[in-house]
Amino acid sequence: MKLTDISTIKTLFEKHGFSFTKSLGQNFLINPTVCPKIAEMGGAAKGVGAIEIGTGIGVLTRELASRCDKVVAIEIDTGLKPILDETLEEFDNVEVIFADVMETDLTKLIEEKFGGMDVIVCANLPYYITSPVIMKLLEEKLPIKAITVMVQLEAADRICAAVGSRECGAITASINYYAKPKKLFRVNRGSFMPSPNVDSAVISLERYETPPYKVDDEELFFEVIRQAFSQRRKQLANPVSAYFRLPKALLTEGMEKRGISPTARAEELTMDKLVSLYETVKELRR
Ligand code: SAM
Repeated sequence: MKLTDISTIKTLFEKHGFSFTKSLGQNFLINPTVCPKIAEMGGAAKGVGAIEIGTGIGVLTRELASRCDKVVAIEIDTGLKPILDETLEEFDNVEVIFADVMETDLTKLIEEKFGGMDVIVCANLPYYITSPVIMKLLEEKLPIKAITVMVQLEAADRICAAVGSRECGAITASINYYAKPKKLFRVNRGSFMPSPNVDSAVISLERYETPPYKVDDEELFFEVIRQAFSQRRKQLANPVSAYFRLPKALLTEGMEKRGISPTARAEELTMDKLVSLYETVKELRR
């Protein structure tokens, strides 16, 4: 069964009365070279278990199932069930859970479904929740070996930008706290059905075994990042002092003490400096 073949897809849709739900980010892969590459680069292999987020009609699911010992896929749209029953019929190592990934307890899922196997995440992510899904995968400190996901090109560029560069945003810094992001390859818009208005890219997130930054209140750290980047081209002392109700003079004094210019903008700060900014805020809030 060739699920990248447009006539096969149309036949499946007609047979099972399926139509796309745009708001769920349903752009299905029709370029046959992409799924093997995601699976290969994502570490899909014997002895490995894979989690997929968003099956669509199962094109990547089948690729993962043919390489891995087990695949657990989470799909929100129950309208895809009859199609997946057909497209995944030949695999006895796949389980599709119909649920919202954001509401899914992944720690429990990994424990229950993969019992000790090395686990990877491979997905062509629904674009409307790219950042929340990635942050969920990282924040919950799941025992995952590798995360390899397709996102919109603009998001890939933002996520993979250097912290401390003009392209860096709050999401760049937040992800870099947990992992080293890397852009693997670009996928053009014509590789999807329906074709979106933008190109995509596959990225990998290599989680640090031990976090390289010492932060004992992660919630506060991420709030400091969010506030600092809320006006990222402007001086960060303004939004940060306002949000945390700190006198600006005290904040800038503390920043200077830690080697951060009082006129610094968030996009100029490296990870170490962002951690120093967090320490300044933490100390002043005591
Ligand atoms: N993997 C398929 C492919 O590459 O052709 C489909 C990818 S499509 C970009 C994203 C998929 O995620 C859709 O099937 C959509 O229904 C599903 N989805 C959207 N929101 C979701 C959510 N919150 N939880 C789980 N799946 C979701």
